[in-house]
Amino acid sequence: MRTHDFAVIGGGIAGASVAYELQARGSTILLERERLPGQHTTGRSAAFLVESYGNRTVQRLTRASRLFFEEPPPGFASRPIVEPRPMLWIARSDQRQRLAEKTKLAVETGAELHEVDADEARAMCPVVREDYAVSGVVEPNARSIDVAGLLDGFLRGFRARGGEIVTRAEVTGLERIGEAWEIACRGDRTHAGVVVNAAGAWAEVVGGLAGARPIGLQPLRRTVITFDPPPDCDIRRWPCLIDADEDFYLKPEGVQLLASPCDEIPSPPCDPTPDDLGVALAAQRIQRATTLEIRPIRRHWAGLRSFVPDRGPVIGMDPERAGFFWLAGQGGFGIMTSSGAARAAASLIVDAVLPSDLEASGLRPEHLAPRARS
Ligand SMILES: Cc1cc2nc3c(=O)[nH]c(=O)nc-3n(C[C@H](O)[C@H](O)[C@H](O)COP(=O)(O)OP(=O)(O)OC[C@H]3O[C@@H](n4cnc5c(N)ncnc54)[C@H](O)[C@@H]3O)c2cc1C
Repeated sequence: MRTHDFAVIGGGIAGASVAYELQARGSTILLERERLPGQHTTGRSAAFLVESYGNRTVQRLTRASRLFFEEPPPGFASRPIVEPRPMLWIARSDQRQRLAEKTKLAVETGAELHEVDADEARAMCPVVREDYAVSGVVEPNARSIDVAGLLDGFLRGFRARGGEIVTRAEVTGLERIGEAWEIACRGDRTHAGVVVNAAGAWAEVVGGLAGARPIGLQPLRRTVITFDPPPDCDIRRWPCLIDADEDFYLKPEGVQLLASPCDEIPSPPCDPTPDDLGVALAAQRIQRATTLEIRPIRRHWAGLRSFVPDRGPVIGMDPERAGFFWLAGQGGFGIMTSSGAARAAASLIVDAVLPSDLEASGLRPEHLAPRARS
């Protein structure tokens, strides 16, 4: 292996997108432990883009990503990366205030939302129980993301720009020697001026290899199930339905329905499997809010969403470890924010400033920096 300007550790959406951006600025190598990129959290998401999701930093990064997904560069993807899939937030009477607060924040950040009453909500998603939701808020421009197509686009684009991808390449050691990092991987050593830590749930493990202090990252396991819709029910135009407190969500996924109880079970970094409780909770919460019968469950899986305490992403140079850059803590929004986050990361690494569109949105490097916000 040779010397590179940048080495990216992790071949999920974070690593693939930042490698794509960095290769336009200097020679970049992408190191992924598994046989194929995208096998961990990136391959297990619910694949939606919602501007009313997450805190203000997340919402700004999502808005900044949207244009790239809607109009990617020529040759990036052979089919559309995003498709329309409105988001319908619903509230019981005890949740109205919280939905109003959520709506206010998202509208301030620029999201287009409008309120609906219970009848209008049921017209959009006829299975919502009459005695459950009293009101709703619709984000008409929410999208469903082709995650595999997006990941593939970043990886192919990275290669086309001359980038190098190495799989089955677990990084096991990091040592700063002079102005570069020496990276131990597959019994070999490679060198790079900047290491980007995009190791998902393992980001603190990789940080530990570099001698960096923890950033407070906690992986949380989440369960997803799919099941058949009722017979003769056309689900193609259903919105993604989500509870105001994020107690569950439900969305069409091809000919099936996909649901999650939005569980958050603390976990060490690992390849998680769903447990019976998560699956039962998904069925219980969906059946409480809707008239759907969940029988049989077709598929189920679990994935790790990794958060720092303020639930914003961590994008910045480690203040104590020169040339060690964090791109971590993408929680439940790492796909929808990937383009904006990758552009922010590349720009901070090379120019120490944010791209102008992100600056104009009100985002500042200190909103993203490791350990700056706790
Ligand atoms: C159930 C669920 C639903 C979700 N829904 C959505 C959604 O609708 N919209 C959205 O935007 N986001 C969603 N997310 C979140 C999103 O999937 C994540 O934020 C995103 O995939 C994180 O990407 P990542 O690249 O950081 O992590 P990962 O995809 O986990 O990638 C990290 C990679 O690093 C590699 N690695 C680790 N250690 C090493 C090492 N030492 N050497 C080399 N490689 C290493 C791993 O093998 C892994 O491939 C969801 C997540 C889950 C679990």
